[in-house]
Amino acid sequence: MALNLIMLGPPGAGKGTQAERFAKTKGIPKISTGDILREAVQTGTELGKRAKAIMERGELVSDEIVVGIVRERLDRADVKPGFILDGFPRTVPQARALDGIMAGRDPLIVLNIDVAEDELIRRLTTRFVCKNCGSNAAVGDAAATTAPCAKCGGPMVQRADDNAAVVVERLKTYRRDTKPLVEFYGSRPTYRSVNGAQAPNTVTAELEAAVAALCKATSGARA
Ligand code: AMP
Repeated sequence: MALNLIMLGPPGAGKGTQAERFAKTKGIPKISTGDILREAVQTGTELGKRAKAIMERGELVSDEIVVGIVRERLDRADVKPGFILDGFPRTVPQARALDGIMAGRDPLIVLNIDVAEDELIRRLTTRFVCKNCGSNAAVGDAAATTAPCAKCGGPMVQRADDNAAVVVERLKTYRRDTKPLVEFYGSRPTYRSVNGAQAPNTVTAELEAAVAALCKATSGARA
């Protein structure tokens, strides 16, 4: 059975970090719409030109654009064993479109990482990421500003949208457009939420346990 995962949660909850770990341990691609859009902005493609100002304001790129990106990405052969979506869906219409894309495929497992807003603001405004590979430095690690990326040696930078004013806007966007997804998915038997205020390794362990239990229940139900 393919391992089709989505990672929900507010900005700064640790979705990217946890998705990266799943991708590695399960051998499935991590698909981050934020990474795809940032790359488009950096390389100056037509998509990047359309998305740049929106992202800088902390608002959402249109459903039509991101659904198109994901639809195309989920058509590739490397998602056969599964995938982990990070940062998508972010609105109810995107979630509905994803249900359409998933028709006839193995079920979606929906993982939510829950973190309080004051902690998110602290994390986002002190976050450093690698310019090359996107890896995060440890939160609050002052040396991260000068030390190269522990993973690839690239330079560590702050994301353009990780400044205080844009962070407030992104959290507002999350509350209005994305949080309703907790209700959209919450009653499905394949939904789990974990407390993301815990140490990253504890969050990983809880997410892995949730996925293992859900996979067991799903394959049991099919047997
Ligand atoms: P992220 O790296 O997931 O925090 O995404 C960075 C920015 O990219 C967001 O603030 C949005 O402007 C845009 N973005 C990423 N994913 C989506 C999505 N699924 N829908 C709309 N906009 C998105």
